[in-house]
Amino acid sequence: MALKAEIISIGSELVSGQNLDTNSRWLSGELGSLGIATGFHTTIGDDMDDNVAAFRIAAERADLVLTTGGLGPTQDDLTRDALALAAGVGLREDPDSLAAIAALFARRNRPMAERNRVQARIPEGAEALPNPVGTAPGIWMTIGRAAFAAMPGVPSEMRRMFHDQVVPRLRQRHWVEKAIVYRKIALFGKGESEIEAEALDLTARGHTPEVGITASDATIRFRIRGEGLTPEAAWAQTEETAALIRARFGSLIVGEDSADVADALVDQLKRTGATLATAESCTGGLVAHLITAIPGVSAHYLGGVVSYANEAKTAMLGVPPELIREHGAVGAEVAAAMAQGARERFDSDLAISTTGVAGPDGGTAEKPVGLVYLGLASRDKVMTRRIDVGPEQPRDVIQRRSSKQALNWARLVLLSQPDRIVSR
Ligand code: AMP
Ligand code: MG
Repeated sequence: MALKAEIISIGSELVSGQNLDTNSRWLSGELGSLGIATGFHTTIGDDMDDNVAAFRIAAERADLVLTTGGLGPTQDDLTRDALALAAGVGLREDPDSLAAIAALFARRNRPMAERNRVQARIPEGAEALPNPVGTAPGIWMTIGRAAFAAMPGVPSEMRRMFHDQVVPRLRQRHWVEKAIVYRKIALFGKGESEIEAEALDLTARGHTPEVGITASDATIRFRIRGEGLTPEAAWAQTEETAALIRARFGSLIVGEDSADVADALVDQLKRTGATLATAESCTGGLVAHLITAIPGVSAHYLGGVVSYANEAKTAMLGVPPELIREHGAVGAEVAAAMAQGARERFDSDLAISTTGVAGPDGGTAEKPVGLVYLGLASRDKVMTRRIDVGPEQPRDVIQRRSSKQALNWARLVLLSQPDRIVSR
């Protein structure tokens, strides 16, 4: 019979709606990649009876129970005691854990509070799981039919303990029989259904490896599932499908995993040696933010202007006031003048601009909400494009989609350039 896992998150901040339980999601993903299915997610507050009851239920219905939270030194941290009660045993002080806690305080040059001593207490018959990055050791023990691993709530401590302490114990029990990996390939520039229509052979049920499609902010990702005895073998299983997707979708591809349009643009800036500047109206600096979020872009991104008011477009970018009066601020003419103004002022190889109606107000029949003009200036020409994100879209979506469209346009222009276009 297949192994079944349960994940229990403990903390009143989680059940009260203050904090989101992200640990369960992470742990389920990790277990899944080890071939272990999670049957239950349980979230409980810092209440002794509820904890003991939840542990007893889990001990009956799961083979493996992972808990996070409630291992701190304060009154509301009940996991140690609740585990002991659920197992019907007492607590003992673990000398190694106590020494590790004392050493941690010594390294930080801080006196150890007496209440930190309780963190060294673990149920009789349990094993302490060392925590090299925090005070709370974890606990490994058996209750009923289930193996329990209690880990700290702090996500970084929990992750480290899971990898260093829990996974080796799962392997020891031969519970990890296979590895599952998900390889993601990100595309930008076409809609989800259009892309799916060109990949029906891959996304069909029964295709090996399994291929799914997800969309987030107009970035479409193929998700290829690889399975094997080792992570390397699982990855190898994705190779052929990944190569096929790359060949079929070519310049739509912006990268793998969490890579997005901005990463791909920065890759192209580095490859060509080109410099870039920005001039933004409706996106309010989001284009600049997305670019500067990528490390190592400083040699290529020279700067940008957020020219929101008409007067600012004139003062900062030299957009002629009569151009704005004649065509309106949202139009191809102003987008072009903004891009050209930024390119000249920053003396960059390329400049991109945005001007549009982000809504929810300010739309007209002629210029509806979601209408955005993009400008792209190079040293020898200026081009513009009109995009319609859609009047029903909220402001943030209009801003994000149009920003990504602007980045993608610059990426594609650079992609079609020969190796380096450094102009000076
Ligand atoms: P605790 O180990 O219960 O003292 O938790 C310490 C901190 O870790 C909490 O204050 C939260 O910020 C965080 N935390 C606890 N449980 C979770 C969870 N399930 N998901 C994300 N963060 C958590
Ligand atoms: Mg807590």
